[in-house]
Amino acid sequence: MHEKTCFCGNLNIKTPAKPLLHFVCHCKDCDALWNGLYMGFVFPTDEIKLSGDQRNYSYEAGSGLKLEIDFCETCGTRMASRPEIVDGLTYVPAGLLKNEIEFTPHVEIFAYNKYNWVGNASSLKESFNHNGTVERISAIIEAMASDS
Ligand SMILES: [Zn+2]
Ligand SMILES: [Zn+2]
Repeated sequence: MHEKTCFCGNLNIKTPAKPLLHFVCHCKDCDALWNGLYMGFVFPTDEIKLSGDQRNYSYEAGSGLKLEIDFCETCGTRMASRPEIVDGLTYVPAGLLKNEIEFTPHVEIFAYNKYNWVGNASSLKESFNHNGTVERISAIIEAMASDS
């Protein structure tokens, strides 16, 4: 298990030790929301514990379904997000757990919108030009789980 707080310490998050998947999103929403690209770990939602006074923001993601972000209303740190398209999974920003889990991306999505300076990580198993289908991503998560 890992335990971290937001920048100001008001929010606390507990995650399992090992993520199901490490992924990068290069979409235009992430350009605006996450300053260029999103690096995240995927965990089962029911194994994440977020406590403190969090705020939520949700918007319609590229999938046409909702994506909800939990953030600290004091310092603005975004702690977790939940995509409706993969119900039961929560994304946690890789930077939050940088010293706990080495980020080695397995999947990238919306690669068409990738910065030119970002290369191809040797850990990448799949690169999708747009949204990877839920089926493909689920298959990768299962393959990851059987690796360990
Ligand atoms: Zn905070
Ligand atoms: Zn994105």
